[in-house]
Amino acid sequence: MKTLFCGVGEAFDENLPNTSILVRAKNNGATVMILLDCGFTAAPAYWRLVPDPLELDAVWISHLHGDHFLGLPQLLIRISEHGRSRPLQLGGGPDTFETVKKAMELAYPGKWDRLGFEIIFEQAYPGAMLQLAGVEAVALPVEHAVPCLGIKFISGGKTLFYSGDGRLQQDAWLELQGCDLAICEAFTLKGHTAGHNSAEQVASMVRTADIRQAALVHMQRGERRRHKDQLQSFLHKEQVQGFMPEPGEAVEI
Ligand SMILES: [Zn+2]
Repeated sequence: MKTLFCGVGEAFDENLPNTSILVRAKNNGATVMILLDCGFTAAPAYWRLVPDPLELDAVWISHLHGDHFLGLPQLLIRISEHGRSRPLQLGGGPDTFETVKKAMELAYPGKWDRLGFEIIFEQAYPGAMLQLAGVEAVALPVEHAVPCLGIKFISGGKTLFYSGDGRLQQDAWLELQGCDLAICEAFTLKGHTAGHNSAEQVASMVRTADIRQAALVHMQRGERRRHKDQLQSFLHKEQVQGFMPEPGEAVEI
């Protein structure tokens, strides 16, 4: 699987696009593309890096905060402008489909029915398997201010996890045993913030579940400025492999 970090920022960062990640995986030998979250500022970041928006097969929405889903009206309309006719899959928890539809109606009234392609919703349930673009995945419960689902993809003998915002419930850590890449929110470097995760807490999960590598995203803008340069030494001290990606960075597992 290949991972491209289109955005790595939190909701209100003036420099970094909202956290949004493109995953390329194989389905029966063919490469498929799945976009993980699409917030206010994510769609232009995706367009800058992926010249052909028609290639997208599925979008996963981890939770219904604006910095994770309110870029969808832009994304969908531009896909429509490019003349897409084949369906696009949308995955997420309950309410995702109806809320995205409402957001479209607010942003561009009447456009939903004239997109020219069908949006097929795949509802996810905590702990249950699902398929996105034909790739096997499991949705996992994450503690956040609103219901949030992490997702673990399994493809080509590798596993990749994306948390969305918050901390994966501890009883689900076993699901990440030996995971090749865990992309996790780290809102702060240390400590505990209600509804969020920290680099320190991610490190604890990485050690416990023997995760190969962690990518830390969605760090609060001030925290990121203060701690970016010390992150590698911090992770080294915590005895975990990890990094804080920049937009445009790609990782293959
Ligand atoms: Zn959130």
